[in-house]
Order: sequence, then structure tokens, then C-alpha cells
Amino acid sequence: MNTLFDLTGKTAIVTGASTGLGAGMALALAEAGADIVLVSRNGSAGTKKEIEKKGRNTLDVVADLSATSQIHMIVEKTLLEFGKIDILINNAGIIRRTPAIDFSEKDWDEVMAVNAKTVFFLAQAAAKDMMKRKDGKIINISSLLAFQGGILVPSYAASKGAVAQITKALANEWAQHGINVNAIAPGYMATNNTRPLQDDPARSKAILDRIPAGRWGKPDDLKGTVVFLASAASDYVNGHVLVVDGGWLAR
Ligand code: NAP
Repeated sequence: MNTLFDLTGKTAIVTGASTGLGAGMALALAEAGADIVLVSRNGSAGTKKEIEKKGRNTLDVVADLSATSQIHMIVEKTLLEFGKIDILINNAGIIRRTPAIDFSEKDWDEVMAVNAKTVFFLAQAAAKDMMKRKDGKIINISSLLAFQGGILVPSYAASKGAVAQITKALANEWAQHGINVNAIAPGYMATNNTRPLQDDPARSKAILDRIPAGRWGKPDDLKGTVVFLASAASDYVNGHVLVVDGGWLAR
């Protein structure tokens, strides 16, 4: 059974790996045996150190995913260092909170660029390498807001709905090439992304009251899910959006 989840010899790119959910998933993949390419704007020194303690190799790539222009560089550096891309975790994401009536075009475009456009084109670039071996796993990080509208976050909800649909569209085309494309939709997780909600006593209580598990999620809660979707254990799982939310959506 253990070999089903073994990622020894695999290379994974994890975007937004410097902190939060990306750092947690990068560590999980490393614990399962993978070498990790860490992508963020400011570098992922802390995550790199943790992974190297576990005896895995890393490559820390500084890149801004608000434009697609850096995608080629990320793929080239990965292939130069590790020779192949087995796993892509499209995790980097941003959020802007403003009432819809005042929401600016700038906030709309910036969120859609990182959260949706780059997700598609980085998946496309990675798939070109995966297709050569007819083997690959692409995991896009969506959100509960692929299913719900959220409050004050219209571009974020639109972008995460897009991530769920991109996942299904790519799965339909690429399953035949041995590439599994799936998504994880995390619930309310305690990271920098949700800091304003955690710090607002009324919102924080309202959120907590609705979570059947009775607590916010933490990066470690995605460990098993990401290893499952990155490993042979999920070889016949295609185009699925796997919700990890302590029961929020079941309410
Ligand atoms: P976070 O703590 O804010 O971390 C975001 C990560 O993305 C950081 O590593 C950041 O590093 C990187 N990043 C942001 N913009 C980037 C850019 N333009 N180019 C490259 N890297 C960039 O967020 P998180 O909570 O861990 O969320 C991770 C993902 O899960 C996001 O897609 C988010 O939407 C999604 N999600 C989160 C929750 C939640 O409750 N936290 C729930 C559902 C979905 P730098 O700043 O160094 O670039």
C-alpha cells in the first residue's frame, strides 16, 4: 500500500510555496519522497530549509506569476535542475476585499491574472513536458468560493470558479495523455490570506460557528489530500474538485 503514495524520484513544482498552504503542501510532497521547485515573488527560504532537513532536493525560484512572461523561465530552470516535471501544484493566489459596487478594474485584473490566467498557462507549459512521458499530475488550488459567492470578494470568487472549470476542461483533454488534472477546494484555513477574517471577531465567530469540525483548517490538513492527488493512488481520478473544509459545505 505504501508504494501507492510514494513520490520517490518525482519532481514537483509548487507555486506560492513560501508560506501557508503552499509551504504545507510542498513539505508533504517532500515527505512522500519528491524533490521540490518552490516558486514565489520573495523566495521560499524557510520552506527550502525544512525540506532539505528531510533529505530532499529543492530549487528556490523567484518569479512573479502576475504575468505569464515568467512561466518559461520556471519550466526551463526546473528541467535544467531535475530533467522533468512530474507534479505541478498551482497554489499561488491573491485576494482583494472591497464591496462589489466600488470594486476597481485593477483589483479585478490582478486577481484574475494570478489566480486564473497563470494557472492555465503554467499547466499548459508543464503538460508539454508531462506528455513526453505520458505521465503527470496537475493539482490546482480552488476554494469554497468555486461553489459559493463569498462576501466582498467578487474577483476572487470568479477566479476560483474559473480554476474549477479549467481543471475539468484540462482533465477532459489530457487524461488520454496520462495526465491527471484535479483541484483541491480548501475551506477556511488559518493563513495570511484569511488574516483579516481571523482578526475580525464577528466574522471569525460566524465562520467558526458554521464549521462542523469546530476549528479553522491549517496547512497540515491538506497534506494527505495533496499526496493522494499527486500519487499513483489517484491514477483514475480526473477533473475532480476535492473539498477539504471541515464540513462547511455540508451545512
Ligand atoms: P498566502 O498565505 O497568502 O500565501 C500565498 C502564496 O502565494 C505566498 O507564497 C506568496 O508568496 C505567493 N504569491 C502571491 N502572489 C504571487 C505572485 N504574483 N507570484 C508568485 N507567487 C505569489 O495564501 P494561502 O492561504 O496559503 O493560499 C494559498 C492558495 O489557497 C491560494 O490560491 C488561495 O486562494 C487558496 N485558498 C486559501 C484558503 C484559505 O482559507 N487560506 C481557502 C481556499 C483557497 P510571495 O508573496 O512571496 O509572492
